[in-house]
Amino acid sequence: MSQALAYAAQSPTSPLAPFTIERRAPGQTDVVIDILHCGVCHSDLHTARGEWAGVNFPAVPGHEIVGRVTAVGSLVSKFKVGDTVGVGCMVDSCQHCRPCADGLEQYCDNGFTGTYNGPEQGTGANTYGGYSSQIVVRESFVLKISHDAGSLAAVAPLLCAGITTYSPLRHWKVGPGSKVGVVGLGGLGHMGVKIAAAMGAHVVLFTTSARKREDALRLGAREVVVSTNADEMAAHANSFDFILNTVAVPHDLDAFLVLLKLDGTMTLVGAPASPHPSPGIFNMLLKRRRLAGSAIGGIRETQEMLDFCAKHGIVSDIEPIRMDEINTAYERMLKSDVKYRFVIDMASMEAAR
Ligand code: NAP
Ligand code: ZN
Repeated sequence: MSQALAYAAQSPTSPLAPFTIERRAPGQTDVVIDILHCGVCHSDLHTARGEWAGVNFPAVPGHEIVGRVTAVGSLVSKFKVGDTVGVGCMVDSCQHCRPCADGLEQYCDNGFTGTYNGPEQGTGANTYGGYSSQIVVRESFVLKISHDAGSLAAVAPLLCAGITTYSPLRHWKVGPGSKVGVVGLGGLGHMGVKIAAAMGAHVVLFTTSARKREDALRLGAREVVVSTNADEMAAHANSFDFILNTVAVPHDLDAFLVLLKLDGTMTLVGAPASPHPSPGIFNMLLKRRRLAGSAIGGIRETQEMLDFCAKHGIVSDIEPIRMDEINTAYERMLKSDVKYRFVIDMASMEAAR
């Protein structure tokens, strides 16, 4: 066992504050990683504030991790000391059910082990995430990073925001000729815009923040719709093949469902703490529209996404922060005031104790 510095929420109402955690002694198949950068996902905030059911406290969030390997177990073959690696939202799964065998560990029949909020396989213990100086992870859940060394902070958000948007875009076969809507220009949304554009789609960004229009176009959207403007929305009725909805709060899904064409699909990836109002069923019946969901992505697909992004020169647009700025960052995220992902520089951890 070794001790690592971390930032934790001790309860749903306490701000994040310094906390010392134990990391397990590395087993034969484990990789020990010094964390360099960790992105700040809205899921971290939902967790730290106990907004989702089943959060275990103390909670150490963080699942957009880029770091450097400092030790490996005797059976580790894919990584060596000094490698730059990534860790996303999962650190383990049962490894024997059908979804795991198919590389879909995020849909493990026995429940995957989250990078934070556990449960650890076998022991059921809570797991602690990337707001920490070090992490120990089973080799098969560690990702290779091939982006250049200068962009590592901006690579971190690919480990959640990147894969969560890439996976449904791939699953629903987005490509050249597709008209794709992305709802919400936050951490997930801005990655969705970049990735869908790189896949060759015609991307339309829906935002509640008119001030983000220019940014959305710069990021790769061909059109921007302010979703509170009924006329702008109506101009796109019955026209989308696919809509990726990243919004983190309950809202009217019908406003977007009616924009899908025959057999179009809207996939929800936003995970609000309470349900959306039920959509009107006739909007779905009459054009055989589909409403779907999607959770992060499997390890194989996460590696595919990282390689796709490296090939296309895609990273996140980030605002670097110090560890002790995390509580302010959460407040700004709630106001949609981030361009477009906060990333913690873990070199600031020592000074933040
Ligand atoms: P984020 O950076 O806060 O972005 C959310 C965006 O939603 C905001 O930037 C804003 O965009 C829009 N929004 C906020 N309030 C709104 C409102 N009242 N009405 C309409 N739109 C609003 O959050 P994120 O990190 O991208 O995460 C988004 C959601 O995805 C969270 O619920 C998170 O937990 C979830 N998530 C799910 C998965 C998964 O596997 N499915 C993985 C990661 C995260 P505009 O200003 O452009 O409107
Ligand atoms: Zn996340």
